[in-house]
Amino acid sequence: MRFLSLLLLAVIFSLNIQGQEQSWQGKFEPIDRLIAPPNTYRTASGAPGKAYWQQRADYVIKAELDEQNNILSGVETITYHNNSPDDLSYLWIQLEQNVNRKENEDFGYVFGGIRDSMNTRHMQFLTRAIDFPAGYTIKYIKDASGKNIKSLVNNTMMKVFLEEPLNAGDSMSFSIAWSYPITDRSMYLLSREGYEYFPEDNNTVYLIAHWFPRMAVYNDTEGWQNQQFQKLGEFALEFGDYDVEIKVPEDHIIASTGVLLNSKNVLTEVQRNRMAKARSSFDKPVMIITHEEAIANEKKKSTKMKTWKMSAKNVRDFAFASSRKFIWDAQAIKLPSHTTMAMSFYPKEGLPVWTEESTKAIVNAVEIYSEATFEYPYPVAISVNTSNIGMEFPMISFNGGRPVNGKMTDNAKAGMIGTIVHEVGHNWFPMIISSDERKWMWMDEGLNTFIHQRTMAERYPQYNHTTPKSIVPFMTRDKNLLRPIMTTSDNELLSQFGANFYMKPTVGLQMLRNSIIGPELFDQAFKEYCNRWKYKHPNPADFFRTLEDATAADLDWFYRGWFFTTDNVDMELTNVKWFTVEDQVNIEDQNKTVKANIKAENSGENAKDFSSGPEAITMVTTPNQSYGGFLSRLDEPAVRKQLSGKNIYEITIKNVGGLIMPVTIEWQFKDGTTEIDRLPAEIWRLNEYEIQKTFIKEKEVVQVNLDPNFEYADINMKNNTFPKKEEPSKFDEFKENNTGN
Ligand SMILES: [Zn+2]
Repeated sequence: MRFLSLLLLAVIFSLNIQGQEQSWQGKFEPIDRLIAPPNTYRTASGAPGKAYWQQRADYVIKAELDEQNNILSGVETITYHNNSPDDLSYLWIQLEQNVNRKENEDFGYVFGGIRDSMNTRHMQFLTRAIDFPAGYTIKYIKDASGKNIKSLVNNTMMKVFLEEPLNAGDSMSFSIAWSYPITDRSMYLLSREGYEYFPEDNNTVYLIAHWFPRMAVYNDTEGWQNQQFQKLGEFALEFGDYDVEIKVPEDHIIASTGVLLNSKNVLTEVQRNRMAKARSSFDKPVMIITHEEAIANEKKKSTKMKTWKMSAKNVRDFAFASSRKFIWDAQAIKLPSHTTMAMSFYPKEGLPVWTEESTKAIVNAVEIYSEATFEYPYPVAISVNTSNIGMEFPMISFNGGRPVNGKMTDNAKAGMIGTIVHEVGHNWFPMIISSDERKWMWMDEGLNTFIHQRTMAERYPQYNHTTPKSIVPFMTRDKNLLRPIMTTSDNELLSQFGANFYMKPTVGLQMLRNSIIGPELFDQAFKEYCNRWKYKHPNPADFFRTLEDATAADLDWFYRGWFFTTDNVDMELTNVKWFTVEDQVNIEDQNKTVKANIKAENSGENAKDFSSGPEAITMVTTPNQSYGGFLSRLDEPAVRKQLSGKNIYEITIKNVGGLIMPVTIEWQFKDGTTEIDRLPAEIWRLNEYEIQKTFIKEKEVVQVNLDPNFEYADINMKNNTFPKKEEPSKFDEFKENNTGN
């Protein structure tokens, strides 16, 4: 027994030692040491644990918009529920408006140093030459009995001191009175909210977000998530119910999170009737406010005020837009368990494309995301037109894209529709599957872009969408600049967060879905993650673990490479050796070495193509001692017969880029047909640098290609073929130009 094992080991050892001059990097080792360990709050399966808890914050807010001075002021009552097992002696409140104060760090400096010639806007970003008095004035913080509460502000975070600790399981209410000057969106880089002024008709569109002091998150992984707001890293927020009253000029129209409670007071009878009609219009939008009516509104300039009352249940934030410029359309979407309203609000500057495309894009997004994750739970899904960028909030998003002289290029239109789909999609990631955006941008942007790109591919096939090829230019960048996906949001460069946090995770998920796990199993696992973590706060480990738990796929090698390193995929097809064995052997002679016929000159190690024909291989009869204790014998003639007349190919593949991946091999035969073989990533387990694999083919091969359908974002396709090609063929160029970007 012992002797046989040793013999066997010796054979195996001699087989696997080749090509291992480089050190082992443990690419298949579990990532347990890279992610947070499981506990009673978050299980090893990736689900919320039995002891999972999260805080809750309910808000009652009364706010007023001063259009003359562009000031928003309000009083809010927060009821904070301490569901944690900890007693809290202070609370942290987010004051995001303070980021625009001159002394605070934001992204103004990203344009780098002074250059010979700079445009004024960039100079303003850099120097804050106009020192706008941004930020909150906190008028008071009072407890439920009206007593002042002590607080201290550290930039964008306010510490609220409690006289008595808020014990585990207890709730408390307190009120904050505040105001701030609304910022001009053109004045700051990365302005997600603020106002846009339209000089032509002397009107303003207000996009109001992170406008009221909001509870910071307190959770089991961070304690207080009180990392400062620096603009790139977005938000971490608790769920709660909102009762909001907003007083605006009476000719303004408000679009907001939640449902409108007093439509009789703020909408005309005509508008209400149109809205009722829209509730059963499932195929096209109904105009609630037409172009002509919006033009008439623009001229009113009323100084009288009226109050809109809204309510939103179980949301993590509340945003609104207000203007007398809005055109408004609405369409109903029938979902399995309820009907929701898709609505768009836009100034005339968005015509005609916003009437044609915005609400349609909302419908497409809501339908595909509901199918891919879980049904859209909210009563409305709103898209508001802005000058630039896209920004998401629960039930409402602000989306850039306007025609020039009524016209829009195909590219601009694709960008605008993509933005609306994407921002509506954020209702799932992170508004409901509420990950910590300030820490992990990829968890909302990456997962959201993945479904957003699927929506584009399914509903807008005429436009380009992301495929693995799209990430290649980024993956080939200087490694000194690249960061892994698992990098804290604010530590990424403004020039590459889009590629690293949006596109790279998207491509990773596409590879997992389409090539590594398979669509059916992957889609169920992705849904599992979404459903496990809806209305909760997932961490990266919860996502990683759930995908493995729900698929039986060991993906640690993939996570390790794709999420934790900046390596790229570059497989090199180093060599393909061609062999034949012919049936002209003396099968009677069991004791003699049998040699196959030599078909041609030995093609050898260094063959650059198949021109010298196959090499003959020597196949000897297995000596008796190799069978050890076995008395039975393998049917050796049958093995010979199987191989007789066939082509045997041994391929050698080198891992140049560092990332291990499955290998797809395309065989092109002499008769013009092709065949695909797939090897799982596990083929790299024993040698992370070079693998060999043998195949039997009936037909003669004229060319071998790796990753022919570009599934794995291989950054260099020139070394993927045998025989090596000097120049890309017309076909390759065509293929290269037609596989998306
Ligand atoms: Zn986004």
